[in-house]
Amino acid sequence: MGFDVLTGQEAVKSRLKTITANKGSCSLLFSGPEGIGKHLFARQTAKVFLCQDPGPDGACGTCSSCKYIDAGTHPDLVEVEPTEGRKNIRIADLRTIVGDAEVKPQISDRKVIIINADKISSDCQNLLLKTLEEPADHLVYILLCSDTSRLLQTILSRVTELPFNAYTEEQMITILKNGGASEESEERLKFLSTFSSRIPGKALALLNDPEFIEERDHIFDLVMRLPRLGYTDILIDEYQYFDKNNDKIDELLLLLIWTLGDIASAYAVPDPQDLKNSDKRDEIIDFVSENRALTHINISNAENAVMEFIKASKVNVSFETNCCNMLLQIHKELSYEKNS
Ligand SMILES: [Zn+2]
Repeated sequence: MGFDVLTGQEAVKSRLKTITANKGSCSLLFSGPEGIGKHLFARQTAKVFLCQDPGPDGACGTCSSCKYIDAGTHPDLVEVEPTEGRKNIRIADLRTIVGDAEVKPQISDRKVIIINADKISSDCQNLLLKTLEEPADHLVYILLCSDTSRLLQTILSRVTELPFNAYTEEQMITILKNGGASEESEERLKFLSTFSSRIPGKALALLNDPEFIEERDHIFDLVMRLPRLGYTDILIDEYQYFDKNNDKIDELLLLLIWTLGDIASAYAVPDPQDLKNSDKRDEIIDFVSENRALTHINISNAENAVMEFIKASKVNVSFETNCCNMLLQIHKELSYEKNS
């Protein structure tokens, strides 16, 4: 029941095994992007610290402390987040928590305070600094932070930082399957893993987001259909789709680039191995075989049209003009066979 129940982050786990075996107070900082698993690891670390009968692998899993942790009711574990409706943790709340933390633990030998350090103002950091300077022997602080440049240098110098790194594709698939995606195909999980930059929290959110699934299919199908579309379809329906989803334009453009990149890969070799949309492999290969007259130049020009859109969107070009230009340009390149 130790850290081995968690997938990946071997360097972090190995350091945590040593750290949790030591007595006395300790202050840790888990750093890494949002969704990388800092909360999950912090809870498991708390479990090991608080366990009444820890073994060499970590928490026993059966003592009353472990049971309280599993039930989310351990009196010596506090997770500090902003109260509902607030952006940051209130200094008054933090002051109370820090004050209470000094009091001896109730059922374990220690107390663990997990703080979402993305949500603390500089006033809160100064308050925290005092307790981090001379923590009571029973106290373990775990700060979770996705941007450590926000933290005061004085805080950073008083904590042991454990940086979280990206997972491998294999680890991502294990995490996603354990996280409720056991029914999904391996190919689809690979797509989600890459699209989320191998951040489990993001991938799991996308997996269960019907809007994202619709978006992704829409963009993929748009590229597949584009050679057969007329100008009106493009200038009215497709433009409207982009306009309606303007707030997610970066995501749409990435999906567009990926699909065009997959066409380029399938065009280059008959059996492409590293498709981004590997779950839609057959459709990509069919597209290439149906559009044999396409050249590398056409595909690369289509990809350039997306880059031009990005460049033009940084200067004062209207979204409508820019978007229609891009779609017409991609259409022109992909319809090369019909136009020539
Ligand atoms: Zn235990």
